[in-house]
Amino acid sequence: MDRSRDIADARLPQLREQEPLARYTGWRIGGPARYMAIAASEGELVAALRWAIERELPVLMLGGGTNMLISDQGFPGLVVRYRAQMQQLEDLDGEARLYVAAGAPMAGTARRMSSQGYRGLQWAEGLPGTIGGAVYGNAGCYGGDVASQLTRAWMLQPDGSIEVWDVERLGYGYRTSVLKAQAAEASGPPGPVVLAAEFRLVPDNPQVLRAEMEAIALARRSKTPGGSSCGSVFKNPPGDAAGRLIEAAGLKGLRVGGAIISEKHGNYIINQGGASAKDVLALIDLAREEVLRQFGVALDLEVQLVGFGGAEGSLWPRSCA
Ligand SMILES: Cc1cc2nc3c(=O)[nH]c(=O)nc-3n(C[C@H](O)[C@H](O)[C@H](O)COP(=O)(O)OP(=O)(O)OC[C@H]3O[C@@H](n4cnc5c(N)ncnc54)[C@H](O)[C@@H]3O)c2cc1C
Repeated sequence: MDRSRDIADARLPQLREQEPLARYTGWRIGGPARYMAIAASEGELVAALRWAIERELPVLMLGGGTNMLISDQGFPGLVVRYRAQMQQLEDLDGEARLYVAAGAPMAGTARRMSSQGYRGLQWAEGLPGTIGGAVYGNAGCYGGDVASQLTRAWMLQPDGSIEVWDVERLGYGYRTSVLKAQAAEASGPPGPVVLAAEFRLVPDNPQVLRAEMEAIALARRSKTPGGSSCGSVFKNPPGDAAGRLIEAAGLKGLRVGGAIISEKHGNYIINQGGASAKDVLALIDLAREEVLRQFGVALDLEVQLVGFGGAEGSLWPRSCA
């Protein structure tokens, strides 16, 4: 993949000031970004990041916003929404490699590959968000995850260089990666940005794949509560399910402001309209406290907190966060 021309042509995308972030997140919650850029290509992404670095502004990478809670105060730096969607399929002998830009939708990519007769991503049917967000957090469901299909990822470093990382280097675990772990350490170095990913696929019958995806879509519809959410709020603790613990603690239906712990799935918090990040955070704290008090289990967040003063997202440079 020759990306030198795109990057040499790097042009700063239009910057929006005080852009409300609620419209870009699954929860429909989030105060304004001091600056926001929507980057349609690697060139625009590089130019936007350079612009922020020159001004020593923190940067938040935003994919589909389906795994983050952004504070009501918003984000004090540059939020970059990466939209590049380029895909390239290389058919090898009995195996294929899909190169896909980080701004592409995960579920749409899975569906396209299945309809073209390639197995490997069908588990991602209906999974909200982008390739970048999925690679960052090792998204997974219905018997698959990013870690089991990814071969390599193209990473943009804070100094502007691009590295190709083998999957092992991403240090994947259950809903985590070295990128996520590094972001959680406030004193650590800033994390790289995922530019693109390569997945290993194998040819299969498109009709068989379609039937599998229809079954997954059905299962997902039956389990997922309606309304604005960011999916599972907490990771499942070893050998148990966060939703089961929250239900057993008697917290389903608990409401703070416009936010409610779903009656259908204890690990979902729904914005029923007009909820603030403060409302959601209050429910998160209540659920953590009650589950710890009643069962001695400390729940870990799966969603990323942004703009609450801690370490968060992919921030460049960390010192300005
Ligand atoms: C209804 C619903 C159901 C869900 N079901 C599942 C499920 O079954 N399984 C599951 O795993 N998840 C699930 N999720 C959560 C979410 O869909 C995934 O975590 C998804 O992979 C997040 O992708 P995103 O693009 O929205 O990431 P975002 O929320 O935009 O970002 C998440 C993190 O990734 C970082 N990031 C994003 N793009 C990049 C990039 N290019 N480079 C570096 N960092 C980046 C962000 O800074 C942030 O820290 C669900 C969410 C919803 C709303």
